[in-house]
Amino acid sequence: MTTIKTALRFVTHRIARHPDSEPTVTAECLRPGCGWSVAPTSDVKRADVDCMAHTGATGHAIFARKYEDMAVVVRET
Ligand SMILES: [Zn+2]
Repeated sequence: MTTIKTALRFVTHRIARHPDSEPTVTAECLRPGCGWSVAPTSDVKRADVDCMAHTGATGHAIFARKYEDMAVVVRET
């Protein structure tokens, strides 16, 4: 008879933004045919201001905003 033993080890991990990265944001006007967008930037407030300026100039008020960062998972000891 064969006995199989399995050792399960539960290790705690955490995830956080990678310290060598900055989150970036992009925004795209959703008015059909417009095509205006904010290039990826780490200046989130600047992107918001640019969107508001676009609304002021065109009346287009709906945007798709995307936030992106680089994450790292680390094993806690
Ligand atoms: Zn627009």
